[in-house]
Amino acid sequence: MKQKLFNLVPPAMLLVVILFWAFAPAAWVKSGWTVVIASSLITATVLGLEFIAERHAHWRMTWREFFTDIGYVIFSATAIAWVTATFADDPLKSVKKSLGITTHWAEHMPFLAQLALAIFLVEFGQYWMHRLMHNWTPFWLTHAPHHHITQLNAMKGSVGNPLELFLISLTAVALFDLSPAATFCAFNCLGVISTFAHANVGANPPIWYSFFFTTIRHHSLHHSVPYEDTRYNYGNSLILLDRIFGTYREGEASIVGQGDRKRLSVWEQTIFPFVPVIDWFKARRAKSAAA
Ligand SMILES: [Zn+2]
Ligand SMILES: [Zn+2]
Repeated sequence: MKQKLFNLVPPAMLLVVILFWAFAPAAWVKSGWTVVIASSLITATVLGLEFIAERHAHWRMTWREFFTDIGYVIFSATAIAWVTATFADDPLKSVKKSLGITTHWAEHMPFLAQLALAIFLVEFGQYWMHRLMHNWTPFWLTHAPHHHITQLNAMKGSVGNPLELFLISLTAVALFDLSPAATFCAFNCLGVISTFAHANVGANPPIWYSFFFTTIRHHSLHHSVPYEDTRYNYGNSLILLDRIFGTYREGEASIVGQGDRKRLSVWEQTIFPFVPVIDWFKARRAKSAAA
């Protein structure tokens, strides 16, 4: 009974987020701080749940993991968010404006329809980018550091190579005039789902949630050690897309990582995509020195 109730925590948190943004006072929506505070509260709550009911003892948070992860969360929310806004979203908005395209119908749709559209746009882009990363080596090299993590925790969704964090944040949301409340709500809903999908929390949401949304069961399987087993369950939050596009796989993993399961340092994660090029130059130099 207690476990059954606990399994409802992720959907309950999702409901709280939707109700919050649907009824938030206009001044709160206007302030850029509201979404920052809401995101921080979501992360802190899920981190707290890891202490109350952990899934695996060998995923238990250490101080080193905690400080590394929090560094990545801040880096993603500041530097990566700025790069994405400056080099992707803003140019997209300018192109839309110069072509005279207007999508004001979008902000007049009911709140839940706007929310569904925003979630679909983000997840559709992420699904195909993520699938590309698992199918083409240059993109895999940017994404591989995220798969080298050896334990799953609430903030691990933000841990990866900076190039990957930028690529996975690309969306077509900027093409639509959605209300700020719906946009922020989508951002926080995806935050709740993907935070739980990476967290060491022993909650297994019911099928009416896990049919549509990614859970830790789906995503831990995606973090399996054999590379071939990672090529399923690409949906960061919307596992429904895997069911539609034929990449869904049932199951769960507790041993996660890649190769020999060595944990990468921040520096190793950062240079990871360039290692083959660096090695090629080193080999060339060694060859010419020997000649
Ligand atoms: Zn992946
Ligand atoms: Zn992941």
